[in-house]
Amino acid sequence: MTAQRFRGPVLPEGENRDLYVVDGRITYEPQAGADTVAEGWIVPGLVDAHCHLGLDDDGAVDREATEQQAIDDRDGGALLIRDAGSAADTRWIHDRDDLPRLVRCGRHIAATKRYIRGYAHEVEPADLATYAAQEARNGDGWIKLVGDWISREEGDLAPSFPAEAFADAIAAAHAEGAKVTAHCFGHGVLPGLIEAGIDCIEHGTGLTEDLVDAMVAHGTRLVPTVMQLDKFPEHAAAGRERFPDYAATMADLYARMPATIMAAYDAGVPIYAGSDGGGISRHGNIAGEIEALVRIGMPAHDALGAASWRAREWLGVDGLDEGASADFVVYDRNPVEDLSVLRAPTVIVLRGSVVGRGR
Ligand SMILES: [Zn+2]
Repeated sequence: MTAQRFRGPVLPEGENRDLYVVDGRITYEPQAGADTVAEGWIVPGLVDAHCHLGLDDDGAVDREATEQQAIDDRDGGALLIRDAGSAADTRWIHDRDDLPRLVRCGRHIAATKRYIRGYAHEVEPADLATYAAQEARNGDGWIKLVGDWISREEGDLAPSFPAEAFADAIAAAHAEGAKVTAHCFGHGVLPGLIEAGIDCIEHGTGLTEDLVDAMVAHGTRLVPTVMQLDKFPEHAAAGRERFPDYAATMADLYARMPATIMAAYDAGVPIYAGSDGGGISRHGNIAGEIEALVRIGMPAHDALGAASWRAREWLGVDGLDEGASADFVVYDRNPVEDLSVLRAPTVIVLRGSVVGRGR
């Protein structure tokens, strides 16, 4: 089999190299007779750390629609996806070499009638730990809890379960060897989750300085999904008449959002990029989330790392090391200096095969 050569600055270091692909794997050993496939900036396969395959506005979708979502994500450069909860069984994606690598959280677990209809296992507090253990066994090493949502009785955002129920669920998932993440918009749910050793927080708009310090102390990660947070004004407007307190809470969280997320970043909380594709957002737009992270103040190199080499390391998938699976994207300009090039990859290589090619 002829070796393929890719030439150019290899990120994150940006050192000029000849990268060869032989039998699907990367080598930097010169290969005689190699075909040069592309030249440009070579970036470890992008990572969408919060995405939903097999899901749309109304719940699970069929296999054909799921496949198209995965293709859209891949063609946007996302070659590794952490699926943050899906009502569909998507484990068949693992068998498809042409679709992104996938780390599944199983199905969301929410409180009864306290989440988007058709998405979650909706359970009572007493059953939360049982479902956490079940989804830990169904997923790929992660589970997803819905930490808070509007409470119609309280007319405001409120934790989905008592702190003790959350702590039991986290312990139950950990006992199965799975990590735990939770959807958290507000403040109230966060102290208990972080104290109970949750591994990651999704969204995190309710974080305060003391909680950021607690996250650093516990090693808790954050996936803010900034593009999704930009929808808070819509949530606030939709609830204003019947739930004015909720509308005010959402508006306040949104006004403070850039400062909240950047305070976590500045304190050293590891942050990763998630598009929330499928969670009422379109697929294939990890570039948009990288741009959004830069817009709220993150340096471009870190924002790209949050969607590439740092996220791969976090999820236990190799970067562009000697012998690693050849999963990378080539761009004709340096994305750190010009993020717009992220929307126009020259070549996308997954498991050693060219799966996408630009102009
Ligand atoms: Zn989501």
